[in-house]
Amino acid sequence: MEVVLAKSSGFCFGVKRAVDKVYEQTKTEGKKIYTYGPIIHNEEVVKDLEEKGVVVINDKDELANTHEGCVVIRSHGVSKDIYELIEQNHLECVDATCPFVKRIHNIVEKESANGRKIIIIGNDGHPEVEGIKGWSKTPACVIESKDEAEKFTTDKDEKLCIVSQTTFNYKKFKDLVEIFEKKGYDIIVANTICNATEERQREALELAAKADVMIVIGGTHSSNTRKLYELCKSECEHTYYIQTLADLQLELPNSVELVGITAGASTPNKIIEEVQNYVRINF
Ligand code: SF4
Repeated sequence: MEVVLAKSSGFCFGVKRAVDKVYEQTKTEGKKIYTYGPIIHNEEVVKDLEEKGVVVINDKDELANTHEGCVVIRSHGVSKDIYELIEQNHLECVDATCPFVKRIHNIVEKESANGRKIIIIGNDGHPEVEGIKGWSKTPACVIESKDEAEKFTTDKDEKLCIVSQTTFNYKKFKDLVEIFEKKGYDIIVANTICNATEERQREALELAAKADVMIVIGGTHSSNTRKLYELCKSECEHTYYIQTLADLQLELPNSVELVGITAGASTPNKIIEEVQNYVRINF
């Protein structure tokens, strides 16, 4: 029996880089380490870091009252004023903003300085979107739905620059951009969608189509893991959704030739390896 792990399983490049940076900091003894917001939506990782002395700063007020140590900025990125506050308070800044997100900050800063109004296609209130907003020299507008795009109006001569939240759905982005284009404004469009999620889903689907049994690992509240599960289930009837190895109750008939494994974006490697080793050794 073969056990195959989907190529893109678990952390994407940006999240892995951010988590690694925090662990790197913990190697310096006696250093006060903070992350601006939880580094990842995974309780186990946040708890493990907490045990190593890493403290989560929840908002700007808490940051304003912090005057010693190092602050790690997570992959979602933050607005410009957070960097300024870190500098003002003489804190060390470890910037783990994903380069794909940083690219959006740069576009937004430059184009807003050139006089373009910034339109962010994304979910208002999402930390990444909040961060992006904070790089625009003039108030940015967040558009999430067709209805909002249809209703958008501004001065006829106003120039626009449209960017997207990295995790936004490409088809929806295209549809919303089309609505803006029909309005006749002078528009620059930057497709800033990251394909990490799409790639993870495509690879899981391909593996599920070949596998006799599929195991999907991730938190029960993780929407991207649920989506992975649904996709795999559509191709492979015997698909299991587990959080950790403890949930796995596999009974494999002898006829099983291929077991596929994939994991959601915030599932640590350690859990993926445990599951993989268990299946390899026990079946
Ligand atoms: Fe991961 Fe892509 Fe987000 Fe970067 S932009 S953190 S690679 S999903």
